[in-house]
Amino acid sequence: MSTGKINVQTENIFPIIKKFLYSDNEIFLRELVSNATDATQKLKALSSMGEATGDLGDLKIEVEVDKSSKTITIKDKGIGMTKDEVEKYITQIAFSGAEEFVTKYKDKVDKNVVIGHFGLGFYSAFMVAKKVEIFSLSYKAGSQGVHWECDGSPEYKIEEIGNRTQRGTNIVLHIADDCEEYLENHKIEGLLKKYCKFLPVEIKFGTRKTWEPTGEKDDKGEDKTKEVEVDNIINNPNPAWTKKPADLTDEDYKAFYRELYPMQFDEPLFHIHLNVDYPFNLTGILYFPKLSNKLEMPKDRIQLYSNQVFVTDNVENIVPDFLTLLRGVIDSPDIPLNVSRSYLQADGNVKKISGHITKKVADKLEELFKKERADFEKKWDDIKIFVQYGMISDEKFYEKAVKFALVKTTDGTYHTFEEYENKVKANQTDKDKKVIFLYATNVAEQHAYIDAAKSRGYDVILMDTMLDPHYINHLESKLKDVSFVRVDADTIDKLIKKDENTVSKLSEEQVNELKPIVESAVSKDQFMVVFENLSETDAPMLITRPEFMRRMKDMNQLGGGGAMGFYGNMPDMYNLVVNSNHPLISRILNEKDADKQKNLTKQTTDLALLSQGLLKGEGLTNFIKRSVELI
Ligand code: ADP
Repeated sequence: MSTGKINVQTENIFPIIKKFLYSDNEIFLRELVSNATDATQKLKALSSMGEATGDLGDLKIEVEVDKSSKTITIKDKGIGMTKDEVEKYITQIAFSGAEEFVTKYKDKVDKNVVIGHFGLGFYSAFMVAKKVEIFSLSYKAGSQGVHWECDGSPEYKIEEIGNRTQRGTNIVLHIADDCEEYLENHKIEGLLKKYCKFLPVEIKFGTRKTWEPTGEKDDKGEDKTKEVEVDNIINNPNPAWTKKPADLTDEDYKAFYRELYPMQFDEPLFHIHLNVDYPFNLTGILYFPKLSNKLEMPKDRIQLYSNQVFVTDNVENIVPDFLTLLRGVIDSPDIPLNVSRSYLQADGNVKKISGHITKKVADKLEELFKKERADFEKKWDDIKIFVQYGMISDEKFYEKAVKFALVKTTDGTYHTFEEYENKVKANQTDKDKKVIFLYATNVAEQHAYIDAAKSRGYDVILMDTMLDPHYINHLESKLKDVSFVRVDADTIDKLIKKDENTVSKLSEEQVNELKPIVESAVSKDQFMVVFENLSETDAPMLITRPEFMRRMKDMNQLGGGGAMGFYGNMPDMYNLVVNSNHPLISRILNEKDADKQKNLTKQTTDLALLSQGLLKGEGLTNFIKRSVELI
């Protein structure tokens, strides 16, 4: 037996790392099982090249927890190591990696700057173990077994052993007293399922019971079954994203979605299979899920893997923001994982990956739009939130999406912007040559206005998502000669301002006489009284909400700030429009009895309020009383 001193400059780095990484110490298992996987894959490669001879046998990796001896053992039947290799790979390479890590991050108090994967490898065993042992036998002919042990100080023991006959490596962790939670089977099984669910080599964790047919029939002629014990295999070594799209059916993709998110009952709308090998390596499958209109933080998120090892489900900075609402997996060995997030943002590969994903998503949507328009329209309501978010936040995406993004009319038909502009241009171009897109945010509430617009031969689209206020602003800054106006923003004649030619039945003096009477019927802080020359068949009075004011309010609700904050904080302001040409208005003006005049005015303003849902409480009660008296 010989002993040695691990060559590290920092005196005893173990306590530092242990403390530093405490909250994330569970990754030790991922690191050790991926080492075991690598060792197995290397053996398979050597065997296929003829460098390792003989039958490789069962290559399963096994993880075992022994509560009584307080150990966790990770066993592989991979290439193994000789004594020299342990000295070299474990005490020099593994530990130098650890030391580099400590010098780099020693002074960083904020743990969050380091992403979930530390690249610490073997060394991470010391985050949970007070002593680590290695038993190994190299695949090389004539090798001697080796035993290495280290208790977390820079000293270690190493010796050759004669009694090991099994090729491969056992790593035995003697779990530290403050980490005994890791001696619970369910804890280890949970971690294996989290990090190792798709590792390429089968991982066995104990056994499980299941029922199998015996091959015999019972009295009723049904298959007899018996309970048998089988290996409890944690992972699926061949997940869908590692296969060729041509070898997968639609059902395979759906099945993989359920495998990823067992608690999701909705089926995904469609998927995108990513497969790049130049200038970076990336595979994966992204799914468009069915989303509600709300922009909630998703809990089933995109999972990031590195060679089938789970790294994180926080893909911020790797996937563009608007696509973090998607689900699925991305696997790339080229994303640097042991660096801070701010570094990640500046990393060239990461930028390229993010750009690539954006492009792929846009291409897929365009393809669906072109090839399966009817299906695309059917799915539009569910995917529009992604598309809108993408168009607002990503210039490149906008350029592609503006060709396939749809507008939905209140009649339920769908059009691209170009198609829609052509459809309404003739009738909805105003005197400044702007094509006006009339929209509603709520068909039921704005019914009267939609109806009025339609009877004018206008078309109305539906803009009812949380993002629409921002989206509309963005579109107006992009689309030439298009303006959006909500159907209730003005009276029907003024929604789309054409040449004005109507004349008023009231003189200026008459308007001045009537204005204070109407003003006294409503709250001055809330309503601006304006006179307009509408047709006799329009309502005598109506309420509108200027487009500009309403938009500022909407934007403020979404969190705008600045000038929007100022307008957003103002009370709701409406226009009370008096139709100068309506006979009822002349009647009010000509009423000599002051009380009767007041009552008539009040009744008319109340009717206008009522149609906008603004008459409530005492006002409503009074209106009903007054109406009964009038009848
Ligand atoms: P990394 O895996 O990133 O190279 P590690 O610190 O995890 O770094 O491991 C250092 C080296 O030790 C590995 O590259 C490998 O050569 C060797 N090693 C670790 N675990 C095993 C194992 N189970 N079987 C064979 N070799 C191993």
